[in-house]
Amino acid sequence: MTAPRPSIPPSDGFDRDVIVIGAGPAGAVLARQVAQSGLSVLLVDAKRFPRDKVCGGCLNARAVSILSAVGLEHVLAEIGAAPIEHVDFISGARCLSVPLQGGWCFRRRDFDQALVQCAIAAGVEFQSGTVATLLPEQAPSDPNFRQVRLQLDGESINLKARCVVISDGLNRRSLDETSDEFPTRISPYAWRGFSVTTPVGSQYAVPGALRMILTSSGYVGLASCESDQMNIAAAMSLKLVRRHKNPGLAATEILQSAGIQLDCDLSQVDWQGTGPLTRRSLTAAHRRVFLIGDSAGYVEPLTGEGMTWAIQSAVDAAPLVARAVQDWSDSLADEWTARLNRSIRRRQLTCHLLTTAVRSRWLTAACLSVASFLPVAPQLIASHLNRPAKTLTNCPI
Ligand SMILES: Cc1cc2nc3c(=O)[nH]c(=O)nc-3n(C[C@H](O)[C@H](O)[C@H](O)COP(=O)(O)OP(=O)(O)OC[C@H]3O[C@@H](n4cnc5c(N)ncnc54)[C@H](O)[C@@H]3O)c2cc1C
Repeated sequence: MTAPRPSIPPSDGFDRDVIVIGAGPAGAVLARQVAQSGLSVLLVDAKRFPRDKVCGGCLNARAVSILSAVGLEHVLAEIGAAPIEHVDFISGARCLSVPLQGGWCFRRRDFDQALVQCAIAAGVEFQSGTVATLLPEQAPSDPNFRQVRLQLDGESINLKARCVVISDGLNRRSLDETSDEFPTRISPYAWRGFSVTTPVGSQYAVPGALRMILTSSGYVGLASCESDQMNIAAAMSLKLVRRHKNPGLAATEILQSAGIQLDCDLSQVDWQGTGPLTRRSLTAAHRRVFLIGDSAGYVEPLTGEGMTWAIQSAVDAAPLVARAVQDWSDSLADEWTARLNRSIRRRQLTCHLLTTAVRSRWLTAACLSVASFLPVAPQLIASHLNRPAKTLTNCPI
């Protein structure tokens, strides 16, 4: 059965309580949470769903605890997610295996589609294949609304909302016309992200394991996401990718550094890529607009926590969004920045430190050697990353 063709939603003057831009895990979970409180929510995504997304598709136990707290854990079974029981960090001839509990691997298009379906079931109106742009406040501005332009197949319409949530990922395209209001800082050392889900080379993925092959110019993760399909995700320096002129060949060089000789050609598969990965929005909320997920800030995928941060930010922001619809006050922006710093940005520091270590071959070798003599050290880091989230019960919507 083909999906109905999307069309621009009608504007009836009042429009929506909340417009959520971007239907990744952050946007879909937030839209559902807010709709459950009885508000009218429009969720828009530029891509036609279901869609693939650059990602390794591994979800840690912390994210699962958040999904479970909001009644969404069932999506993992529905999409047939495969369990991850250990992570193997491989650098040259060294290998460190760290046991994990409660991790999962899946294809991103399935996970994101399932979350969107749950949002729709909660009353969210979903519009895919529609590019949204937050419009600058115009003078004289109406302090009770923000405006969003929606574009689909050459048609365009402006809608008003009492609150707008930006969850459009790393590139924050929806903020192109409001970049002065939401400045961002991109790390000059940031690597680029690439991924593909493919049957090619899937025999090199070990069931139940996430294999991370580390070098000083990039790392590649291999995980089996369903029978004979593998997620290959990589963060690599631009220099390495430019030298090979193809992400597949650059990833092959990294795999070969650990003695993994593929008998298939990764340059022939359909890679998707990102811009610089490590970045941070200097303004997390302003005048009826909240930023969540990657659009608020992201640090490379080494610890595989991006979806955890995205889902946590959605659940944490939802009560503030509901309050903003009733009555905006600048203190809500301060509250959101403080909460983001406390619950997510602090955790991103751990990932930042580890990504800095990986850039040095000697430091990586030293860390793996120490960890193999003192296995409790990586286990402590793993249990810190996987610790169930506590903040949820403090913020009922
Ligand atoms: C190489 C790599 C590997 C990774 N591996 C993992 C991993 O294993 N585990 C993990 O937890 N995280 C991983 N991540 C991170 C994870 O993918 C992200 O952190 C997560 O997807 C963020 O979710 P989000 O909802 O904020 O944004 P996204 O998932 O990026 O969703 C944003 C959505 O917004 C839409 N959009 C963009 N612009 C517009 C617009 N103007 N109008 C409307 N819609 C728009 C996009 O189409 C997209 O659907 C990885 C990242 C990379 C780069």
